[in-house]
Amino acid sequence: MSPLYQLKGITKQYGARTVLAVSQLVIDEGETVALIGPSGAGKSTLLRLLCLLEAPTTGAICYAGRPVMATQRHTVPHEITLVFQRPLLLDTTVRANVAYGLRLRKRRDDQRIEALLDLLGLRELAHARATTLSGGEMQRVALARALLIQPRVLLLDEPTANLDPYNVALMEQAIKALQNEGSTIIVATHNLHQARRLTQRAIFLWQGQLIEEGPTEQMLHEARDARTRAFVSGELIY
Ligand code: ADP
Repeated sequence: MSPLYQLKGITKQYGARTVLAVSQLVIDEGETVALIGPSGAGKSTLLRLLCLLEAPTTGAICYAGRPVMATQRHTVPHEITLVFQRPLLLDTTVRANVAYGLRLRKRRDDQRIEALLDLLGLRELAHARATTLSGGEMQRVALARALLIQPRVLLLDEPTANLDPYNVALMEQAIKALQNEGSTIIVATHNLHQARRLTQRAIFLWQGQLIEEGPTEQMLHEARDARTRAFVSGELIY
């Protein structure tokens, strides 16, 4: 596998506060990575940097072998998609929402739209108004919209927080399908079981620092750092 992201000496500051400081991080093409850590640890901030829409305060990000500063920021993100916990949907049908990403890129793929509606259990809702759906249904629409473009990188911020087991299972199944297509998937999640089900590698962030990284299974059972162990066992005070 070749490195897709290379981060060096990254910090992100808001005002005088440094909310993220990662000295080194490499993510390979096709990897599945979990970002774990307590609320406020910097997971969403790191996802926004990996989306390349926001710049770090200091440090360098290389994406696909090129320094991000040198690439045109507005062209790179077309193959990178970030799905938020509370997605913004267009006030139109479910199908039109799903189709949106390709329409924006002036492409059509009706077959993939139909397959995604089925995969995410949205067939019956295809003509429903997206803004009237339940939280779980909206999340599934947002994921279908992201998967339609077959992104090279899928970034997920707490994709299944507050969802019931049925919705969680549908979402995870669709994420795994994209994984099988070779995409790189990075997911910030509080759910350690989900991290284990979806990812090969986990990164533990705490107070904006990358404390530990390693195979997900190993992180959950044999973490090296005492803070990681405390977090995984639910005993970390923060
Ligand atoms: P996590 O996703 O792990 O919960 P975040 O990345 O959302 O953590 O936040 C890390 C820290 O950065 C938090 O203390 C948060 O308040 C702060 N933060 C995030 N975004 C901003 C912003 N736009 N302005 C100021 N502070 C921010």
